[in-house]
Amino acid sequence: MPELPEAETIARTLAPHVEGRRVRGLRFLAPRARRGPVPDLAGRALLRTRRYGKQVALELDRGLLLVKLGMTGSLRWSAPIGPHTRALIELEEGWIAFDDIRQFGSIGWEPDYPRSLGPDPLEVSEAEFRARLARRSACVKALFLNQGFLRGLGNIYADEILFAASIDPRTPARRLSAERAGRLYRAMRDVLERAIAAGGSSISDYVDADGRRGTFQQFHQVYGRAGRSCPRCGHPLRRILIAQRGTTFCPRCQRY
Ligand SMILES: [Zn+2]
Repeated sequence: MPELPEAETIARTLAPHVEGRRVRGLRFLAPRARRGPVPDLAGRALLRTRRYGKQVALELDRGLLLVKLGMTGSLRWSAPIGPHTRALIELEEGWIAFDDIRQFGSIGWEPDYPRSLGPDPLEVSEAEFRARLARRSACVKALFLNQGFLRGLGNIYADEILFAASIDPRTPARRLSAERAGRLYRAMRDVLERAIAAGGSSISDYVDADGRRGTFQQFHQVYGRAGRSCPRCGHPLRRILIAQRGTTFCPRCQRY
């Protein structure tokens, strides 16, 4: 399921094809792919593509389209229309095909970016990150999944970041010392930057706008590896549930 690095990769690979082009229209092939009312977009200029949390934003000369990728959504440049194509964003030349096998994704129009989400993990300062953690008693894994706390992290990167920082996912956020919170901040940036450089993680069917798979799944240390040996200490990795999500961690080298 796409998270920040995958949304960033889709936005980056879409950009050279679509930025500066005019929109001819937005056509929904599956009604549930439409999230709320969408105005007539004909003639609007598509100025810029960027990530917004786990979503991909297509900024227009007025308003923006926000694409929730859900579990299996993809945005592919001029890809052929197939059985899982749910919407087409038609441009003066070419189109963006929104494919979504599981249909948890959708496209909505917004006059501006919604204010309900937390800061971007690669834009938040270390001081703000630490201050936000210090105010919360929830465990750090649950907070990482909460898009109001930070926008863009999901199960894969939350587990990888907590392993990289050697922090037990059950640790209450406000219990983290300044030193450990700083280590968590640096691990967050490092894991996300390396994942973006690798084009994201292709666990199931994630591909970028040109149909290429990411390669960061080869570098996962804990996600999807429960029962296997910790790559750092050799102890078996353990899987527990936090906020109804499977969480894999090393009970020996990730400290509470
Ligand atoms: Zn370990």
